[in-house]
Amino acid sequence: MLARPIRPAPPGTSPRWAWAGRVAGIGALVACVACHPSTTATADDPQPHQDAGETVTAARPRLVVVVAVDQMPSRIVERYGARWTGGLRRVLDEGVVTLDGWHRHAGTFTAAGHATLATGRDPREHGFVANRWWDRDAWTEVDVVADPEVKPVGVEDGRPLSPVHLLTEGLADWFEAADPRAHTVGVGLKDRAVIGLSGRHPDLAVWLDRNTGRWVTSTWYADALPPFVARAEVARRARELLGDGWTVLRGDPDEPVPDRVLAEADRVHVTFPHRTKDLLAWDGTVEAAIRATPFGDTLVADLAVAAVEQGSLGRDDVPDLLCVAFSSTDYVGHRFGPDSREIVDTYDRLDADLARLFDALDTHVGRDRYVLLLTSDHGVTPLPEHAGGRRILPSELVADAERAVAELRRTDEAIARLPQPRVAYRDGVYFGFDAAVPNEARAKIRAAAAEALRRREDVADVFTWDELSGAAPPKRRFGRAVFRSFHPERSPDLWVVPAKGSLVIDYPGTTHGTPYAWDRQVPIAVVGPGIEPARTALHVETVLVAPLLAHLAGVRTPSDLPAATGSTARAFAGWAAAVSGGLGDGGR
Ligand SMILES: [Zn+2]
Repeated sequence: MLARPIRPAPPGTSPRWAWAGRVAGIGALVACVACHPSTTATADDPQPHQDAGETVTAARPRLVVVVAVDQMPSRIVERYGARWTGGLRRVLDEGVVTLDGWHRHAGTFTAAGHATLATGRDPREHGFVANRWWDRDAWTEVDVVADPEVKPVGVEDGRPLSPVHLLTEGLADWFEAADPRAHTVGVGLKDRAVIGLSGRHPDLAVWLDRNTGRWVTSTWYADALPPFVARAEVARRARELLGDGWTVLRGDPDEPVPDRVLAEADRVHVTFPHRTKDLLAWDGTVEAAIRATPFGDTLVADLAVAAVEQGSLGRDDVPDLLCVAFSSTDYVGHRFGPDSREIVDTYDRLDADLARLFDALDTHVGRDRYVLLLTSDHGVTPLPEHAGGRRILPSELVADAERAVAELRRTDEAIARLPQPRVAYRDGVYFGFDAAVPNEARAKIRAAAAEALRRREDVADVFTWDELSGAAPPKRRFGRAVFRSFHPERSPDLWVVPAKGSLVIDYPGTTHGTPYAWDRQVPIAVVGPGIEPARTALHVETVLVAPLLAHLAGVRTPSDLPAATGSTARAFAGWAAAVSGGLGDGGR
């Protein structure tokens, strides 16, 4: 059943099979541990399998490649997968693929998703709960990757960034612990994506500096850029890629979706060709403009190829790790939405860029010597105009919360005698309480404001700090998912779940960050030696990504991972069986 050949779903077909895994459940998984037909070698698979009937473990890969595509909902594969002919095609044709990968946390933000993929843990544990949060003491925003203790490397006055706020170790750390000779490298367009994906202490993480458009790192990782990064000529390449503007790579500009959708972008520049001058008018410089075109990810592919060609990845039997974070998909998706002609072209071009990475891996590491996993940090909500929802301004929620506090102060004398809290919004409502305000009063204020916000038609529910800081998740819809995203110092006092289709957003385009399926469901595909192509209907939580890759590389993982406990451990065994024929003598 698992090994049925892959055919891309025709565009526009319903995703019914994607959900079948939920229904099939654990029984089917356990049954398949025994029946998985991975002992049958095929012509494409020169790797001889040992001992038919036994658990099959192919030779340990020399290199594990994690490809995280920022904002790639499963729907992208369902709708446009049939178009792809390059690297994405190869992933779908040669991999074990599920389109029911699932982020089990509610805060579907970039930093949270990447760190979950890296650590095998929920944001509650790894601490990358959001891209930014509000510091209640300093009353200012904290960027998830900001670290004043380090210095930028590769640019004079860049932002000092590191994974200092990442509270647990990840794949790179496990690889290094297994053998310090391991090479562990992360490359990506967006700082928080590649930093989250690369764990606490990889050899190197490199991202594209927003202002200068240069590849940079920080002293957290290294004091100088290695030659493969220092040699990369971004400025010349960026001008070459963007010089003629952005036109469609393949096909008719009005197929498979109409190009002209007025809710997109600035509601003026919504059609191809996107002229360089318009892109520059929007973003200022070539370096900034390229991020929100597919060419930002072309630069990432260039660097990943250079890392494979010129670095020491996969050259000996000590397993190495390469993390690649593509993020132009996210910038384009935010601006034009997931159903835009622009996003179709962005994936057409990613397909071509990924083919170049596969070629480099085949040539320099060897076709049967690496494992590549492709997935995403989160999905996305369609443009609210298409999703039947409304755009909620953060300021509306702040005003409602302030009104609720004022109302409480009118009716409650004890509260009225206390200093009034300040209110701010960063992916939720934060209160700045004076130290004199006792806990019971804080809880009362939060409860009153939550009640007021719940009365809005565009709000589905509100969870308070008090509900989420208990030992067990609230027993309401999304309670468990929100609980998994919650950190008492970092998360807001009021966690707002908008009504389905609505978004809290103060810019054109769309976003993610909600607990609805379109923000949480992502593809997961694994390609490698001994892995039989199969499209499975398995429901695979993304906390299982890191432990699976560690298992395939024979690297030990912490015993307290979700993948090692309870029903999640059973799900992990089922998925590991679907991918590799069982847990075997892997690293656990
Ligand atoms: Zn995003």
